[in-house]
Amino acid sequence: MADAANHAEFTDRLTALRAQAVRDALARREAVGGVIAARGDPAGADDEHDPEGATLSTEWSRLEGLRLGALREIEEIDAALARIADGSYGVCIRCGRPIPIERMRARPTAVTCVPCASAV
Ligand SMILES: [Zn+2]
Repeated sequence: MADAANHAEFTDRLTALRAQAVRDALARREAVGGVIAARGDPAGADDEHDPEGATLSTEWSRLEGLRLGALREIEEIDAALARIADGSYGVCIRCGRPIPIERMRARPTAVTCVPCASAV
């Protein structure tokens, strides 16, 4: 799967996915900021005794998890784009065999073939 047409297809898809992930990360950061602002509000400041404070902590953890997930996704996408650039995209990092294009289409940031991924 080393041909140029496929590389163009995956570069386009990864670029679009990256833009989406950046938007997600920024939206999460804004949402986390909103929760922090809400916690800073004197009415909701007492985390220990105010049930709403605890809810905000949980919400903060959830949003922060999503934000970190989006950042990880950006890293994976950047790594995939780098593999396209150096010609190793679509080659399993474990066994060195080409990864079937159906798998790459389903998961454009995949670095292993299905047998290697399930052999972890
Ligand atoms: Zn493999």
